[in-house]
Amino acid sequence: TEETLILVKPDGVARGLTGEVLRRIEAKGYKIVDLRMVNASRELLEEHYEEHAGKPFFGPLVEFMASGPVVAVRASGNRVIEGFRSLAGATDPTVAAPGTIRGDLGRDWGAAVTQNIVHGSDSTLSAERELALWFA
Ligand code: ATP
Repeated sequence: TEETLILVKPDGVARGLTGEVLRRIEAKGYKIVDLRMVNASRELLEEHYEEHAGKPFFGPLVEFMASGPVVAVRASGNRVIEGFRSLAGATDPTVAAPGTIRGDLGRDWGAAVTQNIVHGSDSTLSAERELALWFA
């Protein structure tokens, strides 16, 4: 079955939402196969976000992701990549639908970077690439 990389970002960890995110993953029926708390290096984060290199929010995004520990989760299940993206909701927490992680728990804090609690791989290719990075 399929696997994906989920990150509880520094804002989610700092706000004590790790358990709530894990609860939603498990309540949906996905399996948590591996889990680790990481103080990510800038090198790791720049590689993780390589598709955004050169965008105006790239530097602030890497700094934000390095600002505190993140919880990396290897989750598995049928169509878990698409399924977790659906649980997470839209990138912008202000417009993310209620019922989603970002819609229920996130809002716009006026920061340079959208602090939206979680990351989830967006394709089988990025899931493979990202899992190799975070669970080397
Ligand atoms: P993720 O990949 O983290 O699940 P996503 O796929 O919804 O989120 P991407 O477009 O891949 O969003 O952007 C990666 C992350 O960069 C976002 O989750 C957000 O934290 C930040 N981000 C994206 N766009 C912006 C923006 N225009 N301004 C500030 N931060 C942004």
